[in-house]
Formats: sequence, C-alpha cells, structure tokens
Amino acid sequence: MDMTLLPRTAALVIPILLGWLAGIFINYASDVLPATRRFSQPVCPECQTPFRWVDYLTLRACRNCGRQRSLRTWLVQILAVAAFVYFWLYPSKALGIPLGMLVLTYFGIITVIDLEHRLILHPTSLAGAVLGLIVGISIHSRAGGFWFGLGKSLLGGLFGFGVMYLLYQFGALVARLRARKMQAAGQAADDEEALGGGDVYLAGVLGLMLGWPFIWDGLLLGVLLGGLISFLFIFALLLRRRYVKDALMTFIPYGPYFIISAFYLLFL
Ligand SMILES: [Zn+2]
Repeated sequence: MDMTLLPRTAALVIPILLGWLAGIFINYASDVLPATRRFSQPVCPECQTPFRWVDYLTLRACRNCGRQRSLRTWLVQILAVAAFVYFWLYPSKALGIPLGMLVLTYFGIITVIDLEHRLILHPTSLAGAVLGLIVGISIHSRAGGFWFGLGKSLLGGLFGFGVMYLLYQFGALVARLRARKMQAAGQAADDEEALGGGDVYLAGVLGLMLGWPFIWDGLLLGVLLGGLISFLFIFALLLRRRYVKDALMTFIPYGPYFIISAFYLLFL
C-alpha cells in the first residue's frame, strides 16, 4: 500500500476548509458590496433585518422572517470547496496554490456580483488591480526579474484597458445614434449600453494578471466566447421569429466571458 496516500488524503482537509472560508467571503462580499460599497453588516434580503454574525456565518435562515439562505449561497459554498480541492491536487502552473486560491476567490466575487447585478464595482476593480499586479509580476518576473515582470504586467493592463476603452467609446457612440433615432421615431430613449463601463476596468485588471502579450489571448477568447453565445442567442430568437433588430441591440455583458477566458489561461 502507498504509505503517502493517507497523509495526502488527510491534507485535503486544508483545501476543503479554506474553500469553505473562501465561499463565505465570496457570499459576504456579493451580499454587501453591491448595496453599501463597503464591508458592512449583512442584512436579510427579504425583510432587511441585520443578521447576527453567528447566524450569517453558519448559513442560518433569517430569525425575523424565516427566509432561508439563497440557492446561490449554497452553490457558491459547494463550488468554492470543489475548486479549491481540484486546484490543490492539480495546481495552476502559472500561479501555484496560494496565489491560485486568491485569484479563484476574486473571480468568484466579481462573477457573482456581475451575474446578479450586471455590475463591476470600482472597489473590486481597485482591489483587483493590486492582486493583478502581484499575479502579473510573479508570472513574468520568472523570465527576467522583477522590473521585467512589472513592465509586462503594466503593459498588459494598459493594453486591456485601452482596447476595451476604445470599444466602449464606440458602443457609446452607437447608443447615442440609436437614442436619437428612437426620439425621432417618437419613442422614449432607454439606457441600453452595448458594453458596460465596468468591463473596461475588468479588462485592465485581467491585463495586469495575464500581462503582455497574453492579454491578447484573453481579450480575443473573451470576445469570441461572448460573440458565440450572442450568436446562439440571436439564432434562438430567429427560430422564434422575433425581430433581429431587438436581438442586435441586446446588451452583451462581456464581464463573465473575460473571466472565463482569464480563468482558462491562468488555470488550465
Ligand atoms: Zn428576514
């Protein structure tokens, strides 16, 4: 019998425990940051009664209205533990285990907030920029020292931010033209945006992480993935004989696609 098997299995307690804690932090950040923009006391989404910390951290139902914790809460806990165990056994070559865990937690927070609120918050982008620099430098300094790594990371961040900024400006222009056209047609203009401003910051953060020239792959993969999903969406609408015009104007949130492509490049 392999005598190292038992300690290795016992060591799995570490990623299970850390994954559970990361899940709690992802849930907590996703619960409070969109509402208060700071690490405030969590409240019940149903009746707004503040949670007692013990109840909140042990995932208990609200004591006031009895509302159970959300499906997302449990899903995040399970996925975080699964991801931590997986990347403990098969660590990312680029990141290693500790940095990989930090990046997983960060991706978890922005993904949940983006999916639930269509929002990429400035505080999370700022925290991401710091983490992005650490990741970018640690990946790229292996080839040529600290300053080389710093340069590559900054160049990647600048490129990601710059490209998405130009796309954002183009999207804003299209939105303005569309608003004018709708007003001319006697309709009220809406606030539909082709590309969210938060995606620009996210692209900058991922650029810092991936560095130059890998941010190219990150952006390209994200845009392709977003385009593919949008195409399938339009195709589904066509099958249901809905107007293509509506489909083309539908908001494309690039955030999740960028995160998926960065996740793929960093971890797999
Ligand atoms: Zn309640």
